[in-house]
Amino acid sequence: MILDLNYEEVVSYVEKLGYPKFRAKQLYEAMTLGKSLEEISNLPKDFKEKIKDEYPRYEVVAHLHSKDETQKAALKFPDGSIVETVLLKYKYGYTVCVSTQVGCRMGCKFCASTLSGLIRNLSAGEILSQVLFYNKILGATLKERKITNIVLMGCGEPLDNYENVSKFLKLVSNPDGLNISPRNISLSTCGIVPKIYQLADDGFSVTLTISLHAPTDELRKKTMPIANAYKIEEILKACDYYFEKTGRRVYFEYALISGVNDTDEQILTLANLLKGKMCHVNLIPLNSVKERNLIGTTRKRAYVVAGKLEKLGISATVRRTMGEDIEGACGQLRNRLGGQNE
Ligand code: SAH
Repeated sequence: MILDLNYEEVVSYVEKLGYPKFRAKQLYEAMTLGKSLEEISNLPKDFKEKIKDEYPRYEVVAHLHSKDETQKAALKFPDGSIVETVLLKYKYGYTVCVSTQVGCRMGCKFCASTLSGLIRNLSAGEILSQVLFYNKILGATLKERKITNIVLMGCGEPLDNYENVSKFLKLVSNPDGLNISPRNISLSTCGIVPKIYQLADDGFSVTLTISLHAPTDELRKKTMPIANAYKIEEILKACDYYFEKTGRRVYFEYALISGVNDTDEQILTLANLLKGKMCHVNLIPLNSVKERNLIGTTRKRAYVVAGKLEKLGISATVRRTMGEDIEGACGQLRNRLGGQNE
């Protein structure tokens, strides 16, 4: 797919087809604006015919608007895979929450994305399509992009699709393209330790977010199978390395599950675990997933937990829940295979 390519690669692709360089520029600009092939008016018919199988293509099979202005779209790629993408409106701009895989194989007990396992990885261009889709809806031009931030927090485990995700990060931060600074991109992972080191070594200075959700390995193993592969201690060591290499403070996500990980004692253990680290804890009262029997902590209790952590010297906030009425909140995205899971 041509959207997997950077500008220089598009130029050589177009030149190989026997067309002049300015056609590459037109093609690249059209893709950056999120145009469909049919919407491009300045490219010759024969050229469009030659590139049609490689041009990014998807169908919007659902588009929901939440009362809090969050939007969620389901995009269907030519092989029939459907991914969900969320647009979140903040004071400072718009954030797109992208999916990195169709489904997920991490198996976290509280998350909807993993219910049918992993179907396939998304390519760099397919991840980028999701950002370009909303950028276009918001009326972006080449001079003015509308999307300011990206979070890799949709369906899938980004570090389980490292090659394509790292390519996507390069494409989206490229000055020729959307030019979104890595500082405005957050990558969330359940903690695939070797890939955290690789991310640091490859020089990506995105904001690293760890889905921690438990203060001990024993408890973590109950809800997150990945805890059997990597100990919390190993994750924290990798985070220290990431901080040393990038200077970026690491974020920890902690979905509060009533009676499971939200007792005073557990919060104290969490504070001791993170003491002295340059980090921040995002508390998220668990969002409901109908197939899962877990209940979220109340928001009131979440604020008490945040206060306790702050008192113990750990920076913490309660994340605003957005888009819950359209199942667009954390952990509610899923792959919908032609309606099978709806
Ligand atoms: N696989 C990556 C990216 C998913 S990001 C990761 O694990 O980080 C989605 C975030 O929402 C993760 O922190 C995930 O643990 C969290 N999450 C999953 N299910 C949730 C739920 N039901 N309520 C709140 N947060 C949830």
